[in-house]
Amino acid sequence: MCGIVGYLGQREAADVLLGGLARLEYRGYDSAGLATLGDGGLEMRRTVGRVKSLVDSVAAAPVSGSIGIAHTRWATHGRPSEENAHPHGDAGQRIALVHNGIIENHAAIRSFLEQQGIRFSSETDTESLAQLIGFFYSRNGDLLGSVRQALSDVQGTFGIVVLCADAPRTLIAARRGSPLLIGVGEDEYIVSSDASAIITHTSRVVYLEDNEIVTLDPTGMHVATIDAAPVEKTVHTLVMKLEEIELAGYEHHMLKEIFEQPETLRNAMRGRLNRQTGEITLGGLKAGEREIARARRALLFGCGTAWHAALVGEYLFEDLARLPTDVDYASELRYRNPIIEEGTLAIAVSQSGETADTLAALREVKTKGAAVLGVVNGVGSSIARETDAGVYLHVGPEIGVASTKAFTAQVAVLTMLALYLGRRRHLSAERTDLVLRELEQIPDKVERALELSQQTKLLAERLAEWDNWLYLGRGVNYPLALEGALKLKEISYIHAEGLPAAEMKHGPIAMIDPGMPVVVIAPRDHTYGKIVSNIEEVRSRDGRVIVIANECDRELERLADEVLYVPSTIPCLSPLVTCIPLQLLAYHTAVVRGRDVDKPRNLAKSVTVE
Ligand code: GLU
Repeated sequence: MCGIVGYLGQREAADVLLGGLARLEYRGYDSAGLATLGDGGLEMRRTVGRVKSLVDSVAAAPVSGSIGIAHTRWATHGRPSEENAHPHGDAGQRIALVHNGIIENHAAIRSFLEQQGIRFSSETDTESLAQLIGFFYSRNGDLLGSVRQALSDVQGTFGIVVLCADAPRTLIAARRGSPLLIGVGEDEYIVSSDASAIITHTSRVVYLEDNEIVTLDPTGMHVATIDAAPVEKTVHTLVMKLEEIELAGYEHHMLKEIFEQPETLRNAMRGRLNRQTGEITLGGLKAGEREIARARRALLFGCGTAWHAALVGEYLFEDLARLPTDVDYASELRYRNPIIEEGTLAIAVSQSGETADTLAALREVKTKGAAVLGVVNGVGSSIARETDAGVYLHVGPEIGVASTKAFTAQVAVLTMLALYLGRRRHLSAERTDLVLRELEQIPDKVERALELSQQTKLLAERLAEWDNWLYLGRGVNYPLALEGALKLKEISYIHAEGLPAAEMKHGPIAMIDPGMPVVVIAPRDHTYGKIVSNIEEVRSRDGRVIVIANECDRELERLADEVLYVPSTIPCLSPLVTCIPLQLLAYHTAVVRGRDVDKPRNLAKSVTVE
């Protein structure tokens, strides 16, 4: 998920590696490290925080050699700390490895190796792979063979580069589900997860594909599949400008993150759902299993977009788990002297895991005896540390200030949590299977919903001049009306309000006129008939209606000025799909208005003040 740089050439490796890491900083990360191989053998430096700290540490204690590997880590397993930063090594201290991605079966590998007497020095999933390679290597002395063997044993995603103390002119790199490319310079190779670390050295690159492994040594570059079938590669020329690469061709991080959602949703669900057994495996809940089993009531809380995800969670918890659930703003909860009954399961929802109000609310309910879980993206963040157990989102760093991919992952994780709780309570195997089947299809449906980008762009060009918008939804899509309005406010500075559709009649309907766009979320669920009546009410007052509807629902074309069609799914999962056109509409409207989409005025990405 974060950054890799590897170097083999004639120059001081540390210079190239540190320069490369600096180019990868824009991706967001929490710690960094490097290893080089010179006259003094394998040398490693690792630091928490900025690449600048690593630069300082190398300046204080220089490393030598013209071969090396480096990494910026965005923690998924184990908090950000020096011991958890990459590179990771093996017990025999022959191997150093940097890794992007997640080793899903790390626990099994770790316990196997521990039984063989191997001691681990970090909490990461990555170390299990480094140790496994070292384990095979210590038995057979065949470096490439050992990397291959280890990679065929691991499940999950990886982009890796391996350095070995006994092979002073060899780098081995491989990938599965995590990008890696090799820059081919004059007498040198630069391996990276991202072209921006390569382009300052050379524009000639070879892209590694999934399940390919490459050996770089003085005889050249040798690519094969992990199971040893030879592969022919072509050298491509990078034609992009640096800024374009960092954004992977997107104009803004927010748009990039909107488009990443099929993948981030797959990552959030990877290894956690099992349709064969109907089991939901949420490793982070182990520590809280007893409290979860005893839960009689759930209390979800957060701020902003995370609060909206919590509201969706309320519908899911009540529907799927039949667990009485309340949702509160963290900022209100902390000062309200809340009543925490026995059996209260409190769940803090936050992207960064550092949101000040959410953290304070968490402490308050914990003091009053609630069991606390975290649903956060920031690994090792304060909320993750202070909760009894929790589930990470695994969506990688979110850079755009307006949250998009973290929101959908929060909803996906709360859905899995609802299923997990439901299976321990009243949820039948049949309904679980139905939801799981649909959940598995959500990333593909999100991909189809993203095709609305062009239509929402044209729509935004027509609507951007209006200063007041209304968003309406019912049931599980009412929080989506709030979220749609919030997205628009945050980045376009247009005033917008989200409402449960029926509430419109109790006041806001007075404002409706031809100058007020009304966005209605109307998937085919049990409230469909009611929301159609609400649309009629807006129409009768000359309101401008934009409807988000299921594909094939031609009925609404008659009533709406514009229909944005999204793929259908079961009602409880519809927010994961209906949110896509809402995000796109907010984005394109802000662009039409000339706003700084990724850094909207007055807003901070992580709100660490009350
Ligand atoms: N899963 C690994 C870790 O937590 C790699 C994270 C990354 O991709 O930066 O250390």
